[in-house]
Amino acid sequence: MRGDKYTYLTTAIDYANGPPHIGHAFEKIGADAMVRYRRLKGEQVRFVIGMDEHGLKVLQSAEAAGVTPQAWADGIASKFEEMWRALGISNDDFIRTTQPRHHRAVEVMIERMQAADDLYRGKYEGLYCVGCEAFKTDAELVSVATLEAAAEAGTGADGVAGGVHSEGLTAEERVARLRCPIHPSRQLVWSQEENWFFRLSRYGERLLKLLAERPEFVQPESRRNEIRRVLEGGLEDISVSRSRLGWGVPWPGDPEHTVYVWIDALTNYLSAVGFPDPGYGQFWPADVHVIGKDITRFHCIYWPAMLMSAEVELPRTVWGHGFVTFGGAKVSKSEGGARVDLTELVELRGADALRYFLLREVPWNGDGEISAQRYDERYTSDLANNLGNLVNRVISMIERYREGVVPPGAQTALDPEIAAALVRYRGAMDANLLQQGAAAAIELGQAANAFVGDRAPWNQAKDPALAGELDATLASLARALAAIASMLFPFMPAKMTDLASRLGLEAPLPLESLAALELAGRRMHKGEVLFPRPQE
Ligand SMILES: [Zn+2]
Repeated sequence: MRGDKYTYLTTAIDYANGPPHIGHAFEKIGADAMVRYRRLKGEQVRFVIGMDEHGLKVLQSAEAAGVTPQAWADGIASKFEEMWRALGISNDDFIRTTQPRHHRAVEVMIERMQAADDLYRGKYEGLYCVGCEAFKTDAELVSVATLEAAAEAGTGADGVAGGVHSEGLTAEERVARLRCPIHPSRQLVWSQEENWFFRLSRYGERLLKLLAERPEFVQPESRRNEIRRVLEGGLEDISVSRSRLGWGVPWPGDPEHTVYVWIDALTNYLSAVGFPDPGYGQFWPADVHVIGKDITRFHCIYWPAMLMSAEVELPRTVWGHGFVTFGGAKVSKSEGGARVDLTELVELRGADALRYFLLREVPWNGDGEISAQRYDERYTSDLANNLGNLVNRVISMIERYREGVVPPGAQTALDPEIAAALVRYRGAMDANLLQQGAAAAIELGQAANAFVGDRAPWNQAKDPALAGELDATLASLARALAAIASMLFPFMPAKMTDLASRLGLEAPLPLESLAALELAGRRMHKGEVLFPRPQE
């Protein structure tokens, strides 16, 4: 890493065609936990999220609502920003693709790709999915008949593999018979226009070489294998402008066209750090682009190819997380996203409990299912019973036996457990395995609760000869709580800041300082119940 370069982490910018839902929230919460963990390690982090505000879908939504597309995008953007504040997302910037700073970066990217002779005018005919904002090849489509058979078999569109043969069909027949498997209920649009094309086909070999030389470029591994298969199948040039869509960045030197929304959107990662001004090198290359698994093709093929063409350094890692399903229904960014009301879910037990639950329940490197019942069980067992109970017991005993001040005390059998939990935690968090990171903290809570039972401090307190033993018990338990407050801070920032203040700390401590932690002399206070039990 260069001397004073920031760790730069981004999420996908959300598409401004509807309000935020749990699919968006899962991504921001996971990325925020990654960012907060890195800050706890002492890294200087730049964390950027934002909105993708151009494209046909936004235009259609605005028209349906009877407002201008900008007014529509403004309204959606403020809803998203409000939700991210409520969820404790610690982003440093919120980039919007309608901002002048972004338009300028897109123009420079197009100019550089032009200078590399990678752009040319050509005629395009084909099926366009408005849901994906992308042209679809035969390999990416399914037939209506296949979808109907899947629906009858009860398997749904999710498991249907793409691949049709449409040669010989008319445009009308294609529209009637074919669908995008990601948006099975949306009719495709037959599009015929003269466009600008990007010579993506030039980059297939270089991208395969990239995956071989830098496997960490696409993570987790399952995502990398998907991308490799696409590359091995060969790449076609892609259309990168639209001639009839007025809602976008005008094509430099050809204002009849707008820049294709994905080329526009991907460039946000550069525009948010000031590209093309030289200062952007303080942040770029991005260390991690956090995205959903449905858009890996854009981030792991189009984006690096664009950057190679424009001679800009490539990001280090693209992390493709999976999807959350709620009681069996898919909660992605596309179809079915509105089936769970995110605002209600946040209000149920607060933002921190929801953050913890999602990241503890759904693996960050795969898919997972959640339900209201599971939320109750997790909350009760992990937070109310394990952690909440530990906090209450330990601080109560320090108040009762030592007037609220942590005594100096020798190491006990609990201290090596704290050290071991920290090692497991860091190993998991460094690999972005957030679920295992949270588990390591909760397991330390269990170990500390068991330690209280074993040491029976209430018996130690009865015998003045055991005062030193009692001091050691209480000091070790205080250290365990301080470690847990730091370990769970990326998951529950507000609750763990609250816990830290009850332990007499200004904030959860940096991870480095936990190894040789001395809390003697700190004044603790118990406060209200940290995780109230759900009302029966
Ligand atoms: Zn689609």
